[in-house]
Amino acid sequence: MTDFFDLVRQDYSDVYATATIRGTYIQEARCRVCKLAARKRVPPLIIEWEKGSDVIGDFTWPGGLEEVVLRESVRDALMSNHPSGVRFDQVEMIQKDGLKIPRKPAKMKNRVWLPYLGPPLWSLDVTSWCRLDIEKSKRSIVIECTECERSRMVVHDSTAPLVIKTGTWDGSEFFKIREFGNLVFAVARVSRLISESGFSNVEMKLRGSI
Ligand SMILES: [Zn+2]
Repeated sequence: MTDFFDLVRQDYSDVYATATIRGTYIQEARCRVCKLAARKRVPPLIIEWEKGSDVIGDFTWPGGLEEVVLRESVRDALMSNHPSGVRFDQVEMIQKDGLKIPRKPAKMKNRVWLPYLGPPLWSLDVTSWCRLDIEKSKRSIVIECTECERSRMVVHDSTAPLVIKTGTWDGSEFFKIREFGNLVFAVARVSRLISESGFSNVEMKLRGSI
């Protein structure tokens, strides 16, 4: 058995700059029964900086916990340890037309301004997927549309550790769980590496074992 962890955001009080995801998405086919269409995020990740702070943390979370942006130093530190199940894509940035850099230096500190002149930022792109053992994780699935198999998860015990379905994990150190969308999970070695490096705006939360 090996423990695994969820990568989560640490700062929600504007110590670090926040950003919102603006693209890129492709629209998937509309379901002929429920009429809903999913959209899929494809590279490059495009973000827009928000008001709050101009300090870019080691980790930035532009899409809830489902998108992870890294400073280049973090990407380099991770790459030098060769974790499996991940690759890194460049991040692009946009800014609303008409936003102008204020003349007063104090006012400049409330957001990251473009043109961005720092080292590139990187999107952490997890390439390995596995499945959840729903029952052992004290959850159940309600099918909402039988045509497109859209479903939602019901949590019976939110404190229950997550259990990965036997045989579905390929051994990658970074992975996603289909039933949890784009949340990012990692094994203990990666968790230790991130915790011990003292990176800002990230926490590792123990979620279960494989
Ligand atoms: Zn449907």
